[in-house]
Amino acid sequence: MKSSRITYVFMAMLAGMFLFVFSGCSVGLPDTGTPVSTAGQKLKVYFLDVGQGASQLLVTPSGKTMLIDAGNNDKEQVMLDYMKQYHISKLDVVIGTHPDADHIGGLDKVIDQIPVETIYMPKVQSNTKTFESVLKSIKNKGLKVKTAKAGLSWDLDDEVHVDMLAPTRSYDDSNNMSAVVKVTYGQTSFLLTGDAESASEKDMIASGADLQADVLLVGHHGSNSSTTLSFLKKVNPKYAVIQVGKGNTYGHPKSAILSRLQKQGVEVFRNDRQGTVEVDSDGSSIQISTER
Ligand SMILES: [Zn+2]
Repeated sequence: MKSSRITYVFMAMLAGMFLFVFSGCSVGLPDTGTPVSTAGQKLKVYFLDVGQGASQLLVTPSGKTMLIDAGNNDKEQVMLDYMKQYHISKLDVVIGTHPDADHIGGLDKVIDQIPVETIYMPKVQSNTKTFESVLKSIKNKGLKVKTAKAGLSWDLDDEVHVDMLAPTRSYDDSNNMSAVVKVTYGQTSFLLTGDAESASEKDMIASGADLQADVLLVGHHGSNSSTTLSFLKKVNPKYAVIQVGKGNTYGHPKSAILSRLQKQGVEVFRNDRQGTVEVDSDGSSIQISTER
């Protein structure tokens, strides 16, 4: 990491010299006072390797940031290290998809350390220490939780749109209460599903929302309870990411889900085998790179 920082500084110095050399001539771009266009710049979606758990970090072309989930309690420092690694000094949006520890366990420390603008969580009661700890961090920062539910939508920046597609109603099961968002940038889109299971998938289909997405975060770490064939056909992704830890005790991802994805011609990426998965979109095409 140190060497890459040195490279970065060196490149910045070179760029500075370049500007210095050329600012002497009159070929600079005219200052029209209009905002710099971000067209063609990248939306970066990091499916962070947090072992058995989930966390997605989005950085938009204009530098806006959104964090969805933050891994388990033992990943707090890992999450803070990621924030440093990706130069995150502020989170415009944080979403805790549902109160399970493998999703919000690391969220308390992130909220303690990084300024947060807006936070969404579904209306679910939970009396776990993990959940209480997140609520305490939120309160300490003077934040107010906005209720995550289908129908919400916002622009993360000028060209990146977010639609919340679930939960469409209340469920007894906490997984089905998962906030599900679709992120659209130009002609490309991402569907990030938390641990939503078949009941929520069925309701999302019934809601008539446009579920099609190029990249699907496979629901509930590739459990049999999610990624029903009818849902997968509606989403019709080119790529899928499964957030799982090596040798997890749940047997995630399940072979039935892997073969279902394969049969639909979906290319699968996994945190347990490839580490953090970075998906970049320029608004028309998608590039994927993995840590290993
Ligand atoms: Zn989970």
